[in-house]
Amino acid sequence: MEVTKEQMAANIEKIRQRIEKAALSSGRDPKNVRLCAVCKTRTVQEVMASAGLDIDLFGENREQELREKLSAGAYLQKPCHFIGHLQTNKVNKVVGKVAMIESVGSLHLLEKIEEASRRLDIVQDILLEINIGMEASKSGISPAELWPLAERAENSPHLRLRGLMAIPPAGAQPDETRAFFARMRELFLSLGEKGYKNADTLSMGMSGDFELAVMEGATIVRLGTAIYGPRNYGPAESKQ
Ligand SMILES: *Cc1c(COP(=O)(O)O)cnc(C)c1O
Repeated sequence: MEVTKEQMAANIEKIRQRIEKAALSSGRDPKNVRLCAVCKTRTVQEVMASAGLDIDLFGENREQELREKLSAGAYLQKPCHFIGHLQTNKVNKVVGKVAMIESVGSLHLLEKIEEASRRLDIVQDILLEINIGMEASKSGISPAELWPLAERAENSPHLRLRGLMAIPPAGAQPDETRAFFARMRELFLSLGEKGYKNADTLSMGMSGDFELAVMEGATIVRLGTAIYGPRNYGPAESKQ
């Protein structure tokens, strides 16, 4: 069942309070945490209703949903980030259509995005996705692969490296999850120390763990369930 706009507004208000509390508890300014509404599987109507509420941006996982919602004007004036696994044959359909591609997790994908951005004569903002739990089932680069890839991004004239994104292993204990977020924060800080001057974004934290992410320095938290309620995946769709 779809949630009403009033329910979404109430959910978002509670989320904002929780973000504020987590930020203040770690000496951070809550204004430095942006709320990304992850709207995979949600209808155009739900997305449009949420766009007028207190969220900063949208996160989309699939090219087809992005296309449908863009053509329906569902995001209103809010930016949309691509956060899902991006197949290289879909790169042309995403580059230039989103404010940021958060899920750049291989050299091959990075090169394809540079190529597509060059053809459009634009500079595409990207994050590098770190497979922080080193899970075989997950995409993203290992922490060791970060530096060569960051260098490659920096030397790509049509890419702007804005920072890092991660999804820690599901089902971990809170202290384990927090340790993964802390490791992400270290990697993010070393990007700054090494002179990657555009790296101002650390995207981590979902409905089940966003307060821990905020405490460890997230500048974007990506929430779906906490805003829109549980997702219904159609029979033909795989969970991601
Ligand atoms: C689905 C998804 C989220 C949001 O997950 P919830 O648990 O519903 O908050 C965040 N990030 C990515 C990359 C996702 O695919």
